[in-house]
Parts: sequence; structure tokens; C-alpha cells
Amino acid sequence: MTLWWILGGVLAALLVGGVVAGVLVSRGKQLPPAPEKPVIPAKAQPAEDEPAEAELVEERPRLPEGPGPIGLDSPEPAPNRLARLRRRLASSQNALARGLADLLSVDRVDDSTWDDFETTLISSDLGVGPTTELVSALRRRLAIDGVANPAKAKAVLREEMIALVDPTLDRTLHVTGEGDNPGVVMVVGVNGTGKTTTVGKLARVLVAEGRTVLLGAADTFRAAAADQLQTWGERVGVQTVRGAEAADPASVAYTAVKDGIDAEVGTVIIDTAGRLHTKTGLMDELGKVKRVIEKLAPVTEVLLVLDATTGQNGLVQARIFAEVVDVTGIVLTKLDGSAKGGIVVQVQRELGVPVKLIGLGEGVDDLAPFDAEQFVDGLLGE
Ligand code: GDP
Ligand code: MG
Repeated sequence: MTLWWILGGVLAALLVGGVVAGVLVSRGKQLPPAPEKPVIPAKAQPAEDEPAEAELVEERPRLPEGPGPIGLDSPEPAPNRLARLRRRLASSQNALARGLADLLSVDRVDDSTWDDFETTLISSDLGVGPTTELVSALRRRLAIDGVANPAKAKAVLREEMIALVDPTLDRTLHVTGEGDNPGVVMVVGVNGTGKTTTVGKLARVLVAEGRTVLLGAADTFRAAAADQLQTWGERVGVQTVRGAEAADPASVAYTAVKDGIDAEVGTVIIDTAGRLHTKTGLMDELGKVKRVIEKLAPVTEVLLVLDATTGQNGLVQARIFAEVVDVTGIVLTKLDGSAKGGIVVQVQRELGVPVKLIGLGEGVDDLAPFDAEQFVDGLLGE
């Protein structure tokens, strides 16, 4: 993973401005111009129970022809992002970081210190199970010396925290397809969690790695949603495939992947809507989006975006989404805000899926790969 970002950073330096677009165009064929009447190939024909897709794709922007997106600078290198992560996690706003610091700052650890520590951990969204495990491991390992030797105590705490966050999980992002297929990344989650923003930031990282990217605006509920995605696309120099307002999301996703295949792009990222009116509606919609895409190419990654500041609510959402689609990775956004941090451990345990990316702000470079050690070092103010 680290290598991934370092490579991204190095490549980014080479891919300034027009060069980015040059790569974009040279690596992939030009997208076909928008047809007068949308044409859906025969194999796109939906199953009988699924609405027709034909009227759904009306606007299809073209790939930029000249050296394109003007003023597109290179992404911030990964080490700088991680330094920012540490600064933000270590800020006193983070309950988990504060709890850890408090434990290390007492003169003598007694039962009431452990009780307070336990309470802080639970209130920092770490969850009862992980908290109990951590406290009993620490009580055992620090039984003799306590925290009298702060450096040793901190090292033990670091080790146990890293074990909880689990450095053995495979956090690789699957953004490449097999053979001629593009990688297809579906981004799902409740509205407002940061899906569209994450799609934009992720596209920027992939472009910086020299990949070609196409976005699919399958949140067709509001026209503004597709506009927002397209604006992100323009910011980071990639095309957006969009449908009419209230179009069938599955159809837009299908067209995006089809266009991606035709243009030989490396990765298609599909932004989806996250209305949680009824679980059944959501299940139908997301399930269908995935099924329809997979008539063309396998979905290589399903990223569930969770707002880290929503704590237990976020977990409830995560469970619902995990039931309707096979989530392969979690993006935890807004870790820069009043998030408590412990949610990382809980959500991974609940879903059995690793946190792969974290959102650290609203800017284009505010996305970082998740790394257990970096995260814990951030919390411990290392
Ligand atoms: P969507 O409805 O899931 O697509 O969410 P959006 O991408 O539209 O994001 C909702 C709001 O959250 C926007 O104001 C974003 O700028 C903001 N946002 C997204 N990610 C982050 C993050 O990591 N940190 C912060 N502070 N804000 C974020
Ligand atoms: Mg959105």
C-alpha cells in the first residue's frame, strides 16, 4: 500500500498539467460521441422485471481533445497526507487519542484509572468487546511496572492497539480488471457520508498513478448529484457518464462500464445513491446496479463509505449495506472532524471487511490509504 502511494507521488510529479490529459487520451481510445438516440447493445437488454434502459443515457460528455484539464496540479505526496493524518488524529478532539494519553500520564495505575480508561475507550466508539480485550491485555502486560516506565508502557500500548486494528488485513484496492476488462469500483453508502467526494479524490489518485478513469453518475435521484460528480471529474481531469434525472441507476452504471470498455479505460468508478427509505428499495437498486454491470465486467471493488462522526449509527448503516451488497472495503470519512477513531476497529469486526481508505477533509488530496501502524501512531501522537 505504501508503495502504491509513493509510486503515485512520483508519477504525479511527472504528470503535471497537460501531461495528465495526454496520458488519459493516449492510453484509451476516444469515447464515442453521444448518439442522437441512445443505443443500448443487445446484451444490455434488461431482464423482464427490470425497467428498460434505453431512454436513460442522454448526456455523454466527450473526452477532452486537447491537452486537458488546465491547471490540474499534481496530488500531494502520500507522506505529507500521512503527516496530516497524524496531526489530525493527535489533536485533542479525538477521544481515543485523549484516552490513551491520559492513561500514560498518570503516576500510578490503579483500578479507578483502568475504569476511567475503559469508559473512555467505549465512548470513543471502540466497542465493548475490543475495549475489554485491550484493557485486559494491558492490565496483564503492565501488571508489574504499571506506567512507571512511560516508554515501555507506550510501546506496549502501541503494540496492543495495532493488534486490535489488525495490520494483517489485506487493504489492497482492486482497481484493475482481468484481461481487457476495466477495474470496476462501486461506491455505496448513506447520503451525506462522502461518496461523491471520495469518488473524486480516488479518481485523482488513480490518474496520478497513470491510470485512465471514467466516472459513472448512478446517483440519478437529483440532477445536482450528477453535477457534483461531473464537477469533481473536471477537477481531476476525468470524464463522467451521466443519465437523465431520475434515470434508472443501473442503466447509467451499465453505460458507464460499457463506455469504459470501449474506451479501454483502466478503472470505472460508479457513484451511487444512498437513500435509506426502505431497505428493500435499496437492496433492489444496489443489487440491480451490480448485476447489470456484471453483464459486462466483474465489479472488482465495492467500497462502503461511512461517516466516522456518526458512531453507532454508522455501524447500523454498515450492517444494512453489507446485507445488500458484498462490501470489499470500507472508506471512513471525516476522520478530520469530531470523529472518535475507535469506530475503525468496530466496523472491521462487525463486517469482517478492512478499512481501506480514510477521508481527512473536503479537499482533493484529503484521502489516504489506511494503515494500522500509522493510524495508531497518529493516536499516540508519535
Ligand atoms: P454523498 O451524499 O455520500 O455523495 O456525500 P458527499 O460526497 O456529497 O459529501 C457530503 C459532505 O461531506 C460534503 O460537504 C463533503 O465535502 C463532506 N465530506 C466528504 N468527505 C469528507 C471528509 O473526509 N472530511 C470532511 N470534513 N468532510 C467531508
Ligand atoms: Mg453523492
